[in-house]
Amino acid sequence: MRVSRLMLVTLRDDPAEAEIPSHKLLLRAGYIRRVGSGIYAYLPLLWRVLQKISAIVREELNATGALETLLPQLQPAELWQRSGRWAGYTAGEGIMFHLEDRQGRELGLGPTHEEVITALAGDLLRSYRQLPVNLYQIQTKFRDEIRPRFGLMRGREFIMKDAYSFHADEACLRQTYAAMDQAYRRIFSRCGLRAVAVEADSGAIGGSASQEFMVTADAGEDLILASADGLYAANQERAVSLPGEAQPLTGGVRGDGLGEPLATPGQSSIDDLCAAHGFEPSHTVKVLALLARFEDGSQHPLLVSLRGDQQLNEVKLANAVTARLAPEHGTLLEIVPLAADAVSREGLDPLPFGFMGPHLSDALLAGARSWQPRFLRLADATATELEAFVCGANSVDAHLVGAAWGALCPLPDSLDLRAAQPGDRCVHDPAQVLQASRGIEVGHIFQLGRKYSEALEATFTNEAGQEEPLWMGCYGIGVSRLAQAAVEQHHDGNGICWPTAIAPYEVIVVIANVADEPQRELGEQLYAELEAAGVEVLLDDRSERAGVKFKDADLLGIPWRVVVGRGAAQGQVELVQRSVGERLELPASGLQSQLLPQLQRERAGLATA
Ligand code: ATP
Ligand code: MG
Repeated sequence: MRVSRLMLVTLRDDPAEAEIPSHKLLLRAGYIRRVGSGIYAYLPLLWRVLQKISAIVREELNATGALETLLPQLQPAELWQRSGRWAGYTAGEGIMFHLEDRQGRELGLGPTHEEVITALAGDLLRSYRQLPVNLYQIQTKFRDEIRPRFGLMRGREFIMKDAYSFHADEACLRQTYAAMDQAYRRIFSRCGLRAVAVEADSGAIGGSASQEFMVTADAGEDLILASADGLYAANQERAVSLPGEAQPLTGGVRGDGLGEPLATPGQSSIDDLCAAHGFEPSHTVKVLALLARFEDGSQHPLLVSLRGDQQLNEVKLANAVTARLAPEHGTLLEIVPLAADAVSREGLDPLPFGFMGPHLSDALLAGARSWQPRFLRLADATATELEAFVCGANSVDAHLVGAAWGALCPLPDSLDLRAAQPGDRCVHDPAQVLQASRGIEVGHIFQLGRKYSEALEATFTNEAGQEEPLWMGCYGIGVSRLAQAAVEQHHDGNGICWPTAIAPYEVIVVIANVADEPQRELGEQLYAELEAAGVEVLLDDRSERAGVKFKDADLLGIPWRVVVGRGAAQGQVELVQRSVGERLELPASGLQSQLLPQLQRERAGLATA
């Protein structure tokens, strides 16, 4: 391809709309253009990158026996109502674009395809003899993200590879899950990415395994916690750790466990309380009041107790609340802190914010206009394990010292609700501590179990002749996000350094001065020869200054540059490796023998540089 025919427009300066390096570089180098919020045009150069990533994905998935298919993006609401996800995906913070057709029927634009594929599987898969099956597609997905940002990283329209497997039993599901795990590792490594697999939150489905693949990069939106020995890595949403030891409370249990009142004027934070009275945060219990809203419109006050030195993990809390209340009230739409004005709108007396104890009475909720009149009470195990603690007295400017569970109030459900933190000791080996790094989630694999097949009545006849719901797994890769993540991992001050396996072109031949006959002739000749040898090659034939062309070549990030300049008359060219900047003068006649073996290795993803 000739650069003069490429519609290439590069930008010298960083566009104001971009914050992170990969987004800036893709815009500057003419790979993408913004069309609207979270909506991008993939220009021809990026389309080639996306095609190459897709080709690697196809090869690796086909090798596992998966079948490519293509499902509709327009999805009838009825399917999502049957799975119970319509409300959660369209109301409140739901991310599904949805519309009505001319007959007034509701439709959603596919953010994901569990419903469509499970309904199909239920129709087509009748017997255990047809199982297992693994279907995948590479397709545009739509999600009305609350905060679209960072270019292709979080778009509202983006390309995903999604796969769904169906099985007669859980053991078979685990096998396919393991095979997909291996395929994913090969895919990311062939794309030239350093990716780590981390334990991920499996949402409210419970029990099922789920793993995310993170490309490590400072600009990543996810926090990864991992042990130095490499044996544990998890998304912070999911991570577990050993909490620090609690400091015993001097004086222990007082007032038969009801605690002794202590005046604490204005000391509504744990820090102020501890500073004023010499307490340790680890022998206090802090109590958070929150409100959970559900699909059926019901609103449930929550009272969550944590040890004073611990932080709440909102994902763990949402899972715990869902497990308890969703069966009756439908999808959990959101959890928000209980605000003072919301309490007064309910016609209730103010809650003693900053001075609440776990014995806060349900009587305070009596007569609420729209809330359930009782708290769902949950506590992190670090709080329930305290024998004697300091907590709010449920009246402003007062705490209790030496309270104990049982005497003060019944022990609430004890769970893991705390956020693991960098520096925490690891569960698998207390000698290891968790270290933090940031990651970009490029893939997610999931043992779904039978949630969707039960909801959509997708059953098969097992060996014993009985009907049972299909076992199911699902597996995603963000293809367009992956392309940008590669740039985030592979760039320098001058531009992109594509790994060869996913570069839009492998070689760029730059004619330094197109007005110079020997240069132009040799450039054209090398271009034709490389193309004939099966190399993906660009020819920069523009009548720009050489410096401009070199800058653009660096910005574009083509792995190899052949400069045809003054030496052309003597048959000499220069070969430059983009990633390391290494230059080599060589006779044009020796170019192919120098370059082709190297390219062979790099295409296979075996490059070292
Ligand atoms: P995130 O937590 O980043 O919102 P997700 O967990 O909702 O992602 P999945 O439903 O697991 O995403 O989708 C599979 C893959 O699709 C993700 O691993 C990610 O690589 C990609 N992806 C998800 N949302 C977007 C988006 N808005 N823009 C680009 N890629 C996305
Ligand atoms: Mg995910």
